[in-house]
Amino acid sequence: MRVRFKDLSVSDIKMKKELLNAVDVVLTHGKILLGPEVKEFEEYIAKECGTKYAVGVGSGTDALYVSMKALDIGPGDEVITTPLSWIATINAIVAVGAKPVFVDIGQDLNIDPDLIKNSITNKTKAIMPVHFTGRLCKMEKIIDIAKKNKLFLIEDGGQAYGANMNGKMAGSFGDVGCFSMNPMKIYSSYGEAGVITVNNNKLKEKLVSVRYNGTLKKEDCHFPSINARLDTIQAAMMNISAKYLPNKIKRTREISKYYDDKLGSIVNCPSDDGSFQTYYSYMIKIDDREPLIKYLYQNEIETKVQHPILMPFHAAYKKLYSGISIPNAVKLVKKILSIPNHDKMTDEQVEYVADKIYDYYKK
Ligand SMILES: *Cc1c(COP(=O)(O)O)cnc(C)c1O
Repeated sequence: MRVRFKDLSVSDIKMKKELLNAVDVVLTHGKILLGPEVKEFEEYIAKECGTKYAVGVGSGTDALYVSMKALDIGPGDEVITTPLSWIATINAIVAVGAKPVFVDIGQDLNIDPDLIKNSITNKTKAIMPVHFTGRLCKMEKIIDIAKKNKLFLIEDGGQAYGANMNGKMAGSFGDVGCFSMNPMKIYSSYGEAGVITVNNNKLKEKLVSVRYNGTLKKEDCHFPSINARLDTIQAAMMNISAKYLPNKIKRTREISKYYDDKLGSIVNCPSDDGSFQTYYSYMIKIDDREPLIKYLYQNEIETKVQHPILMPFHAAYKKLYSGISIPNAVKLVKKILSIPNHDKMTDEQVEYVADKIYDYYKK
């Protein structure tokens, strides 16, 4: 039995028809740039995330970049974040001219709030927690630190759309919430897309301006920026996939729960912290992962290490950050392994994956 790590094709015939029809509608009305489907998408996001507004952008990376530009974060400023995320998190910080500062992670693979204080300087402008794998960071503590130190709070929810704590949604904790809708993410587009959630009206207006080359009324540039608009065709398609999202999340969580039950006693599974996790990936922590990866591969099960290189140690950054102390991240990044948990898996495939991992350890 072959099990792919993800399957990005659209196999639901009804859904495919609706998606194609949504594209047809846009091509016919011809409002290709920031058409009505973008507004509809933004209103949906704001409602779902429990914020006043949402601003559609071209990608998750754009969401981070545009947010920081709109908050006037730039050269001379420091932004505190985690070392364990997709590289876009710090590339965006560097792109606005600011400096990423890394705080070590906890066993939940998220930034350790108790260590943030030590890294705050008079240059610190913002904290950017990443809800890694779709699990919320310890937001109460982080909000408290941000408030006490008058720092902006920018949530990188790239992997965490739909995650929440008792209904309080990812993206609604900070000054802005940044999401990616790239096809790997749980609420996905069919290309590149992203969104920013925000409550403050003035900030929302600035985000809209920064999204389109920093222009006011689309003419006069007030803030040098880039073009980061959300594509209308992507918005139209996401307005369709939104209808299928609750079931997708439900199925992903069901699979994850099955793994918890089946594998919890033999490997370190994502623990239940009382929050509603959306499992961008189901990430186990194990020693000596290479032989297991190979064993699963031989049994036609694809796995992935997301992300094998800590951000400060990518080639572009390692000279700058070779001296930093992030011992937990260094230890944990060698243990993580994502196993397939997507909604297209059949029950048989889910059982097969769990059985194979179980067999591997019981052999
Ligand atoms: C995917 C991702 C991004 C970047 O999103 P893109 O849409 O690919 O630009 C940023 N942060 C995190 C945590 C991500 O997972």
